[in-house]
Amino acid sequence: MPRNTVARIDISALRHNYRLACALASPARAMAVIKADGYGHGIGEVARALADDAPRFAVACIEEAQAIREAGIGHPVVLLQGVHSADDLAICAREGFEMVVHSDHQLDWLEHAAETPTLWLKVNTGMNRLGFAPVMLVEVMDRLERYAVQQKVVGFVTHFACADDVASSFTDEQTRLFTEAVADWPSLQKSAGNSAAHFLPGQPLFDLSRPGIMLYGASPMLEKTGPQLGLKPVMTLEAQLTAVRTLKPGESVGYACSWTAERETRMGIVAIGYGDGYPRHAGTDTPAWVAGHRIRLIGRVSMDMLAVDLTGVPGACPGDTVELWGGHVSVDEVAQHAGTIAYELLTGITARVPRLYRSPADRAG
Ligand SMILES: *Cc1c(COP(=O)(O)O)cnc(C)c1O
Repeated sequence: MPRNTVARIDISALRHNYRLACALASPARAMAVIKADGYGHGIGEVARALADDAPRFAVACIEEAQAIREAGIGHPVVLLQGVHSADDLAICAREGFEMVVHSDHQLDWLEHAAETPTLWLKVNTGMNRLGFAPVMLVEVMDRLERYAVQQKVVGFVTHFACADDVASSFTDEQTRLFTEAVADWPSLQKSAGNSAAHFLPGQPLFDLSRPGIMLYGASPMLEKTGPQLGLKPVMTLEAQLTAVRTLKPGESVGYACSWTAERETRMGIVAIGYGDGYPRHAGTDTPAWVAGHRIRLIGRVSMDMLAVDLTGVPGACPGDTVELWGGHVSVDEVAQHAGTIAYELLTGITARVPRLYRSPADRAG
């Protein structure tokens, strides 16, 4: 018997969230961001699930684009960081991988390229990680014309730094800078807008938006969970209750004896830990769910197990399934307890945890 520590992936929830992104983005189209193994959900399965609806996919690097091809999907794939070596240009051109160009050294590679892929130019409007300053765009376009590849440029991209915060004016400022920077090329496409930008009232998303985290049902916004934004959780992380015991007042549980019972406490051990990607920083009081009840973690998360307080769930017994996050406990809540964001939790589930896919057909049957 396997251990029954699993990540169940609900394909119809993924599709629901993508359709919500499309509705919010309209008239812009939404390219589905499926980097980091589809935010931990399995890039091949995610690409197949969205292939009928999404015009394009976006990933960080060429290996991820190749994984989409290996899943049998031929859609255009945008490499958000472009290529990391000149040798990859020809592969991109042949495979239909579109390159975001963000740096001088990538321009140098394009000068000598035998084959050139479709290009997007990254404009730095204040994130200050990658991209060309708005004042540099004319020079960049001139260089590409000299290299006889300017006709490969299909558009401009920029990325927002603070769109998760409705109170920030920084997104407006970035939007203004971007609009001005690319105004001289009205026939080229524009793409700005991570998931969070879809939830900002009045925010233009131009021609193509780039939803990522929202596709997986987690919240891109501060102080909101995914379900509060109309999103459906895609991953349910489950493990079994493997032991139940009663602690007397004064007894503690786990490493460093960090939690001590004040009263007699019925507690359970769950077969999941940080070796599975459950966050070690999720301490006492982080929520979980068992047998129809919300419960809480107690003590430290270990590599292969964690402890929960079963006071109030007298029926819970070894073999019961515990939901660590999913439809009853939002991954956003767990992230908050762990001092991080859902992105890190979802992408951090390790290879030890099998992903089990439930498609709409399975559910009907
Ligand atoms: C990851 C990424 C996105 C998606 O961001 P979410 O916050 O997950 O929606 C969009 N654009 C770029 C450039 C990215 O790197």
